[in-house]
Amino acid sequence: MNIVLLGKPGAGKGMFAEFLQKHYGFTHISTGDLCRKNIRDNTIYGKIVEEHISKGQLVPLEIILDMLKSEIKKETSIGFILDGFPRNIIQAKELEKIVDVDAVLMIDVPDEIILERILNRRICPNCHKVYNLKDTNGKCLECGTVLVKRADDDLKIVKNRLQVYEKETKPLIEYFNKKIIVIDNSSQIDVAISKIKEIIDNLLKKTGENV
Ligand code: ADP
Repeated sequence: MNIVLLGKPGAGKGMFAEFLQKHYGFTHISTGDLCRKNIRDNTIYGKIVEEHISKGQLVPLEIILDMLKSEIKKETSIGFILDGFPRNIIQAKELEKIVDVDAVLMIDVPDEIILERILNRRICPNCHKVYNLKDTNGKCLECGTVLVKRADDDLKIVKNRLQVYEKETKPLIEYFNKKIIVIDNSSQIDVAISKIKEIIDNLLKKTGENV
């Protein structure tokens, strides 16, 4: 079973994907993480990816598809969680040529909460864990490394990312239509997690898959 996570930047896609990977064994593919890895590893795509990310723009399709396809080749016991892909209708059509999409979870959060969460988001440069500044003393709770801000979590870039979402990504709600399941993530994380769990358990029951 393959699941797409849809939602604005900072809606919590990465956190839910991590939960679904740990709890059910899905293979988590985050195109944002793949982009950042290409920058860190200074690959042939690194420079061009960085140029786009630093402006809050989408990375060119051929590059994203190349990254995605090599991840999709990997073995998965239960299926993929796609986090950050597709981000527009062209990408959705490309995805459907490669794998079936069984469900699209739309993580819904109002803009004012998004901004607060993104501007307070800090990441561990060592183990890549994600935190809200308010819940830490500025250091990673796992490895003690000093947390940093993601380079594109700057107000001007975030505003651009939100505009890209409205123009390019939001039309996917209509595109995926009957496959969309909306999850409100504006209050406590636990509430949204138990809702997601209920949804996935039901989907697995329907498809007869065991985990
Ligand atoms: P967020 O969802 O918070 O914007 P991501 O880590 O998913 O964070 O993405 C960060 C950046 O990586 C995007 O702004 C974009 O530049 C690039 N990116 C990620 N996924 C894609 C994609 N599917 N297509 C094009 N660019 C992408």
